[in-house]
Order: sequence, then structure tokens, then C-alpha cells
Amino acid sequence: LLAGAVALMTTPHDILKQVFGFDHFRGVQEDVVMRVLGGQHTLAVMPTGAGKSLCYQLPAVAHEGTALVISPLIALMHDQIRSANAIGLRAASLTSADADRERTVERLKAGELDLLYAAPERATGDGFRRLISRTNVSLIAIDEAHCVSEWGHDFRPDYRQLKGLLDDNPDVPRLALTATADRRTRSDILTQLGIPDDGLIIAGFDRPNIRYNVRPRDGLPQQLKSLLAQQPGAGIVYAPSRDKAERIAEQMSGTGRPALPYHAGLDPQVRSRNQAAFVESEDMVMAATVAFGMGIDKPDVRFVAHAGIPKSIEAYYQETGRAGRDGDPAEAWLFWGAEDFARARQRVETEVEPDRRSGERERLNALAAFVEASGCRRAILLSHFGEDPPEACGNCDNCLDPPATIDATEVARKLLSAAFRTEMRFGVGHLADVLAGNDSEKVRSFGHDRLSVFGIANAEEIALVRSVARALIARDALRADAYGGLSFGPGAKPILKGERQITIAVPPPRKRTSRKRFDG
Ligand code: ADP
Ligand code: ZN
Repeated sequence: LLAGAVALMTTPHDILKQVFGFDHFRGVQEDVVMRVLGGQHTLAVMPTGAGKSLCYQLPAVAHEGTALVISPLIALMHDQIRSANAIGLRAASLTSADADRERTVERLKAGELDLLYAAPERATGDGFRRLISRTNVSLIAIDEAHCVSEWGHDFRPDYRQLKGLLDDNPDVPRLALTATADRRTRSDILTQLGIPDDGLIIAGFDRPNIRYNVRPRDGLPQQLKSLLAQQPGAGIVYAPSRDKAERIAEQMSGTGRPALPYHAGLDPQVRSRNQAAFVESEDMVMAATVAFGMGIDKPDVRFVAHAGIPKSIEAYYQETGRAGRDGDPAEAWLFWGAEDFARARQRVETEVEPDRRSGERERLNALAAFVEASGCRRAILLSHFGEDPPEACGNCDNCLDPPATIDATEVARKLLSAAFRTEMRFGVGHLADVLAGNDSEKVRSFGHDRLSVFGIANAEEIALVRSVARALIARDALRADAYGGLSFGPGAKPILKGERQITIAVPPPRKRTSRKRFDG
């Protein structure tokens, strides 16, 4: 692109129109672009498909110099570069897969690049930092910025090392971008990358045409069959394993509906044939592992069902987000079992590195609160992404058919008091023992039998304690640490002061084994 031509385009809107060919900014794009053009450090949290690339590509065009883009995946970089080049941007990457690295360095030195992409492991190296110190850098964009946080689901130590590069260039505006970041991860990104709190911009995550439904799993084949019977159109059923994907595909074919499996264990040719068939079809069911869906372009997927719990609320949002891209009504179904949580928790304790476990536990707690909620599902999803949604959406199972609930405010207050009196470090099991007046060894060894809260709850109330604890965690009145120890969150005070009611769904009758269901 000719620098002279850009200079003639006076406004960001002109550039949007003439370079990118778009008439309007979408959602928060304009806010992000304006902040970056104003030279301010920014973190943009935008869902997939919201148009994150434009947020750094447009400033890259508008400003003299080269925008540096840190991105973790070479394949992703090369895609981006192809589409940037296609609209006349001068973009290149420095990766092990680029044979023309020398030429790229020359272009960079000559000021002939609008965008330079690099992976964090290169960008943190001394050689690269020296190169950049001699370059006119207009912007540092950090894609997939959640990788910088140990709280994020995809921590990469190299992202931590970016600080050196950023410190070298304190006055260059930084733009961190991510599609998935809960509250904690977000504030970690801000701290790690030196972005001020007011630099956080969160896009609208709502997908109003998707109706969320969550059900306990109870005879899955039958549940799926009745779902298919009432649900026309193409859909995806996410299965927790390859075997289950195969089995579900078989069972669904038995109903007469075309159904195919998709998972990483299939021959690549079969996989791409199945995917192509799905994209073409108007009524096919794809029974797939989460390997399926990334990068497929099918706007008319009418439903996404989960045969077991997803990895996190973020993953759930991402996976269900593949339904209804055309804006027409679409359904999301989640069939979950307590054993899903048990298995996931076991995996965290045995397969996850110790210093990442507490983050994973929190992700599961948030997911548990979502599936168990008696209130609006959408409100939970959106507040997870930092939005402040209305209390009821009118388009989820709980809004359309509110479950029976009970007022558990009194139990909530007793539980909060017990947490407070025991110095906010014990889990729900111990707090229940104290409230019930169980004279156990542990209770006595801490002297908790002498507290005012000892034995203040009756059996009926004790039966609600665990549901109430989950509800309080969901409302951020209680926060669970890595060991399940409960302490107050900001939501505790209004409940203790009687300003806020706690309503929970009537818990199912307890089975003998149910006591350990959600223990962390
Ligand atoms: P993300 O990285 O957030 O998933 P992309 O940057 O890949 O999203 O953009 C998704 C799609 O939206 C692309 O096809 C892009 O061309 C398109 N797009 C981005 N911004 C706009 C806009 N303002 N108007 C119309 N289409 C846009
Ligand atoms: Zn709702």
C-alpha cells in the first residue's frame, strides 16, 4: 500500500472503507481502534468472529512504522498474512517456517512493512529485541493474550517473557487481544502487560438467537433421539471421547437422520469427507469430539448438543457459538452428569501441573455453578465474560420454564457466618459439620465446637448447604481457594446485611454417594 494514499485518507472510517472495504465498524472495534490510535495501551476481549484482526491492522495502516504482532501459531500467522496481503497490506512473518527471513528483515529496516508477525519465543530473544530497537514500531499487538496468564486455560511461559520487549518500548501502544478471558485472567493480563485498568474493552458476547438448555443426563440415547425428533436442521453433538462420538453417530443414524462421526482418530480423508458432507447438508448430525468445528464455515448450524460437560464456560461458549451464525433461532443443549465433574476433577489432580490446578478447579466450579443454576443461563455466561446482563433473557430453559426454587437466604447467612467464624479457610464439608453441631475430631481440634455458629442449623438446612455454597460461589459471595477453602467475595456483605435474597433450585433427593459430588 502506498504511504501517500494512506495520508490522504483522513479518518479511520475512510481507511475502513477504502482499505478493508467495510462500511461500518462492528461492535467495539471503533472504541479499540480509537484508543490505539490515541496511543493508549488496551486489552480487547472479543468473541471469535468479532473482528479482532482489524483492531490492529487498521492502526497499522494509519500509523507510520511497523506494527508488531505477537501470535502463538505459525499457521494462524500465515492465514492472517495472506488475507492482509490480499487487501494490499505489507505483511510478513519471522518464523522458523519462513525461508525469506533475511528479506523480511531488510524490508523491516527499510520501513517497508506495515505488519510484522512473530511468535513469542522469537520475540523475546535478544536478537529480535535488538532488531526492534532499530525499527520504527507503531504498535505492539499481542494476540491470544490469555496465554500470558497462569489463570488462563492455555498458559505459555514465553508470553511472560514479553515484558522485556514491552519495557524496551514503553511508549509504543500495546494492544492485547483475546476471545476468552474470565475476570481473573483479564486482570492478570492487564498486570502482566502493563495495561491500565481503564484500558479494558469487552465486546458484546451475547448470542441472543441461541437458546440455552441444560439437563442432567438421564438415558442419553433417548434424550438425543427426542431432541432430534423435535429439532430440524444440521447440528453438532459433542462427545467426550472418540468412542462415544462413533457410538452416537451410529445411534443417530438409526433414527433415519443422516449422522457421521468426526474425531482425530479417523483417517484424514474420511475426516475431510465427513466435514464436507456436513457443510453441504441441511439436516445432518455430526457426532464429534472438540476437534471439530474450528474454522468450519457453516452459518446454518441449528443446534449444538453436548453429551458431557465441556472443559470450561469459555469452551462452552465457543462450542455453542457455532450454532446459529446466520442469526436464525438455534438451540444449545447440554446433558451433564455428576460423574463428568468427578472425572474432570480427578484429571486436574493427576494430570495437570500442580501450579495450574487451582485455576482449573475454579473453571470447574464456575461450570458447576452454570449447570446447577436455577436462574438465567445467559446471565451467567455473559457475566462470566464481564458483561452486566439483565437478570432474565427470556430465551433459556430457566427463563422459559423456571424450576421450583426455595428461599435459602437464612441458610446462606448461616454458612457465611460459619466461614467467617472459622477464619475463612475451611471447605463446605467442615462448615456443614460445624453448623450441624457434629462433634468430630477435626471440629474439636480447631475449637470450632465452642463457636456461636456450632449446631445452629437443623437437618433440613444442612441438606441445602452444598447447593447454597454453589449458589454463593456462583454469585461471588464466596470464593473457593485451591483446596476448597471458602472466603468472602464482594457478594457476601449484601446477603449478611439482609439486602439480598438467595434462591436456589430445589435440590434432588440425596443419594448415598451425593455427599462428595462437587468437592474440590
Ligand atoms: P476474530 O479474529 O475476532 O475471530 P477476524 O478478525 O478473523 O475475527 O474477523 C472475522 C470476520 O469478520 C472476517 O471475515 C473479517 O473480514 C470480518 N470483519 C471484521 N471486521 C468487519 C467489519 N467492520 N465489517 C464487516 N466484516 C468485518
Ligand atoms: Zn435466560
